[in-house]
Amino acid sequence: MAISDSPRSERVAVLGAGMVGLSTAWFLQEAGVDVTVIDRDGVASGSSWGNAGWLTPSIAVPLPEPSVLKYGLQAVLSPSSPVYVPPTLDPRLIRFLVQFARNCTPARWQQAMQALIPLNTWALAAYDELERGGVTARTQAAEPFTAAFRSVADSRALLEEFELIEASGQSVSFDVVDGARARLEEPALADDIETAVLIHDERFIDPSTYVHAIAESVRGRGGRIVTGTDVDAVRTSASEVVVAGERYDSVVIATGARLGDLARTFGVRKLVQAGRGYSFTVKVDDVPRGPVYFPTQRVACTPVGDRLRIAGMMEFRDVDAPMDPRRIDALVTEARTLLKGAHLDQREDEWVGARPCTSDGLPLIGASKDPRVFIAGGHGMWGVTLGPVTGKLLAEQIATGGRPDALRAVDPLR
Ligand SMILES: Cc1cc2nc3c(=O)[nH]c(=O)nc-3n(C[C@H](O)[C@H](O)[C@H](O)COP(=O)(O)OP(=O)(O)OC[C@H]3O[C@@H](n4cnc5c(N)ncnc54)[C@H](O)[C@@H]3O)c2cc1C
Repeated sequence: MAISDSPRSERVAVLGAGMVGLSTAWFLQEAGVDVTVIDRDGVASGSSWGNAGWLTPSIAVPLPEPSVLKYGLQAVLSPSSPVYVPPTLDPRLIRFLVQFARNCTPARWQQAMQALIPLNTWALAAYDELERGGVTARTQAAEPFTAAFRSVADSRALLEEFELIEASGQSVSFDVVDGARARLEEPALADDIETAVLIHDERFIDPSTYVHAIAESVRGRGGRIVTGTDVDAVRTSASEVVVAGERYDSVVIATGARLGDLARTFGVRKLVQAGRGYSFTVKVDDVPRGPVYFPTQRVACTPVGDRLRIAGMMEFRDVDAPMDPRRIDALVTEARTLLKGAHLDQREDEWVGARPCTSDGLPLIGASKDPRVFIAGGHGMWGVTLGPVTGKLLAEQIATGGRPDALRAVDPLR
């Protein structure tokens, strides 16, 4: 652990009441810090609301991977493609895409994977700590977590990815089964699913319920949560930070896909780009017991109560762009062929949310160039899985002044 001369932090403002911000606030309280969480909208109003809720550290890998480039320009420009970039002249988006493409090499992927492993290793333990400490929501074991394929040939890409994960030093526990066996586990799988990979030791949550439970716990332990306050500036001096007219010792910027707006002033040069995804929920005759993933079509399904959430798409565009109904249509079209007994015409909770993506696929966690300003975000596809461990490690850094080794490779000033 590297020790720095950071100022004492007895009162800390956390900007953003998503999974990352609230987890950070909760773990700061564990260290005796007085916290105020401030959100422009409300608790879990950003990407932490309608996501798939998978807690899958053994398959949490960097987004920029060599196969992304194989999609090619044509696929990426089609509104029904799972990875979509609208034709753009926005120089910021173009810069992000160029940097992203440069990271889609096997060597860069390996390097980023190495950096994620220490976070993945402790991801579920951080959830256990929240629950032992009084958060009333519960993670559920994903037994099974099913990755399903129409052909054995299609499944090879995932199995090859597992080999790369294992070669990087992280283990994945799984079994390969045929379609009939997979349907015994999950009868909602379509009849033409030929094979499935059952991944073990993973969990899932209803993300909105869980984040609200963390918020309740933060409040119950004396923390304040202020909603409806859009923070447009963070002012710092040698002795304090001023946010929304109030004084604090330090501030944590955890504003999801909008992270760059406030973090840029404090030396964070890495762009955080909205990678927007869509979801909705439907009734299904046989609600799957655990998450079901169709990697070829990039469709993610998760049981939420008595319904199934169907999520997917990666749309690199402005965080505030309106919901594009063609993206929902594309998800419905895929789901119709992949699932049996899903009532896809009676959709509820249609949603778009912005994954906070970085071009190297790694989050930004740690101190900024101002010793009173800390950064927590940019987790892309994995902010739910990695939110609590992020909060735990960053709280340790803020409270002790020493940076945990696991945060070295995710330095926000890299
Ligand atoms: C379709 C989809 C499926 C996904 N599935 C999974 C999954 O299965 N597992 C997984 O691990 N991850 C998943 N993710 C990714 C995950 O949702 C995100 O990485 C995670 O929610 C990010 O959390 P966050 O707290 O950083 O951001 P957010 O949840 O977006 O929170 C940021 C908060 O900051 C607030 N805010 C922004 N600007 C300001 C400001 N200036 N002042 C005050 N408040 C501000 C916002 O209102 C928001 O509430 C998925 C994402 C999508 C879109």
